Amino acid sequence: MREFDYVRADSLDHAAAQAGPHAALIAGGTNLLDLMKLQVMVPERVIDISRLDGLDTIEADGPGLRIGAMVRNADLAADPRIRADYPVLARALLAGASGQIRNKASTGGNLLQRTRCPYFYDTAMACNKRAPGSGCAAEGGASRMLAILGTSKDCRAAHPSDMAVALRALEARVAIRAPNGTERILEMDQLYRLPGDRPDLETELDEGDIITAVLLPAPALGSSQSYRKIRDRASYAFALVSVAAVVTMQDDRIGKASLAFGGLAPRPWKDAQVDAMLAGQAPSEALFSKAADTLLAEAVSDAGNEFKRHLAHRAMIAVLREATGLAPASTGTDLVGEPA
Ligand SMILES: Cc1cc2nc3c(=O)[nH]c(=O)nc-3n(C[C@H](O)[C@H](O)[C@H](O)COP(=O)(O)OP(=O)(O)OC[C@H]3O[C@@H](n4cnc5c(N)ncnc54)[C@H](O)[C@@H]3O)c2cc1C
Repeated sequence: MREFDYVRADSLDHAAAQAGPHAALIAGGTNLLDLMKLQVMVPERVIDISRLDGLDTIEADGPGLRIGAMVRNADLAADPRIRADYPVLARALLAGASGQIRNKASTGGNLLQRTRCPYFYDTAMACNKRAPGSGCAAEGGASRMLAILGTSKDCRAAHPSDMAVALRALEARVAIRAPNGTERILEMDQLYRLPGDRPDLETELDEGDIITAVLLPAPALGSSQSYRKIRDRASYAFALVSVAAVVTMQDDRIGKASLAFGGLAPRPWKDAQVDAMLAGQAPSEALFSKAADTLLAEAVSDAGNEFKRHLAHRAMIAVLREATGLAPASTGTDLVGEPA
């Protein structure tokens, strides 16, 4: 690891004032420190925001909740309000990492954790995300964990967060504090950029911006919520494909469906067309299959990750069957909530 300065921020103003092109915030450090050890990220200054007052609480926010950026993943998953009203979020959190890591990992850090593309982590390999313009060693390489939607010729890295997928399905928003003290609120899809020809630019955050909270809307009363994660091991593994669903039925029809997907794209993926084609319809295998076809219509895969198309198709149908009561819930081992 290279030498760096460590600054423990005592206020948001202090943290913002320390920001710069060669500085990085540290929250739980579970991703940043790994990347620094590998010299994938080489900040000259690390600004610790983990002890700031007021960032580690979950508070009522009108009919919804405001989750501070320093709320730990374990505490968020265990919060009774989250378990009762936003179970898809609790399940997604518990499907991620391990108990020890969730004790350290923060809400803000989880949103901004970097991709797990193996070429990004290996400094001997070309990677446009790590070193803009250097190329993409993933081309023709091992693509099992890579994205099939929203990619570009310059980058096929997938977003790794489980929590962010659930937040996307819940239509959560993110509060960001600029260095001048003003706060702006972004929808989740406004937060993350697609790679295009600048895969190194992953979010709409500017220098000195700090995520202060995630805002959950009012609970979707009467909704069925689920998170299904399919991975190579039953725990301690990132998603090959994951599906988060918040579905509300009206009589025998789907009133509203909000689906989001992980493992498939450079950001937690949502397709408004898919949600729209489910709304107002009676649940059926044919409908779900058509919606899955729509989701995957623009997918670009190769021999190494072609399987994700089939996996995503089947996972989406299984989750929708469960959420709409079309068939009894599966008890397969890919269901989340198992001990990590
Ligand atoms: C072995 C292992 C397995 C894992 N498995 C999974 C998994 O299955 N699913 C999953 O979702 N995750 C998994 N993770 C990732 C883990 O969830 C993340 O490392 C963690 O959530 C990051 O949170 P942190 O607080 O430690 O972030 P940090 O490492 O402190 O920061 C991460 C990034 O976010 C930035 N940042 C942090 N907070 C803020 C803020 N408030 N505002 C602006 N920028 C900020 C930092 O500058 C840094 O760039 C795994 C990690 C490990 C090590």
